Amino acid sequence: MSAVLIVEDEKHLAEGLRFNLEAEGYEVETVADGEGALALLLAERRRFDVVVLDVMLPGANGFHVAAELRRAGSFVPVLMLTARGRPEDVLRGFESGADDYLPKPFELAVLLARISGLLRRREWFNREAGAGEASAVNTAAETRRGGAGPTEGGGADTFAFGGKTIDFAALELRTDGRTLRLTLMEAELLRYLVGRAGQAVSRKTLLEEVWGLHEDTDTRAIDNFIVRLRKYIEDEPSRPRHLLTVRGVGYRFVAEAGDREGSG
Ligand code: CA
Repeated sequence: MSAVLIVEDEKHLAEGLRFNLEAEGYEVETVADGEGALALLLAERRRFDVVVLDVMLPGANGFHVAAELRRAGSFVPVLMLTARGRPEDVLRGFESGADDYLPKPFELAVLLARISGLLRRREWFNREAGAGEASAVNTAAETRRGGAGPTEGGGADTFAFGGKTIDFAALELRTDGRTLRLTLMEAELLRYLVGRAGQAVSRKTLLEEVWGLHEDTDTRAIDNFIVRLRKYIEDEPSRPRHLLTVRGVGYRFVAEAGDREGSG
């Protein structure tokens, strides 16, 4: 049974969500402020499979909570509830480490779909992580359509390039003995781009295919993720050699980065 933590100060909404999620078979806990959420997740180390996190909370807001979780090394999937008509919230949410967002007010069915989307990805990652240790590197990340549903095919789910290895299953990037943790959606975005190496992919396509967002989302949200990913995978993030900007279109991943190593 998957456990969901709802962080929401509007009691009606929190209880309504609890009722509906429990009816769907989830184990649900609610907490009314950010400090309470951090206490549960970090101090008490309670395990949840998804956190539904409202932005507007008394005291520490949702951005702060998400950022604190990531800083503390908690990579629990976070679905952020933002205010409609505030695209800057979406940007800030992603920036602070949220995996997905939903503007309020929302349809219950959409919330349920988003939660199960995050769980599906997580389960799939966990399953892969359990299957076999580091063998073949570079099982060219299989491409996935639609951003949902498990991919079949076992074996090591890693991709190596330029002295770095992305381990999609473990949500890790390994480089020079250093291991970086990736959030679920950072790994998903990398997987999508790596699976289309050499091709230009538009921001809109990324939002639709990786996040499953079809509404009018500010596509700058993607740029935030790209900035983060560049910090992880590029030797010089300001002069990317792998994760390239395609002017007027979006981004392109290239594994072979030419021979500029050490220059400059
Ligand atoms: Ca609120």
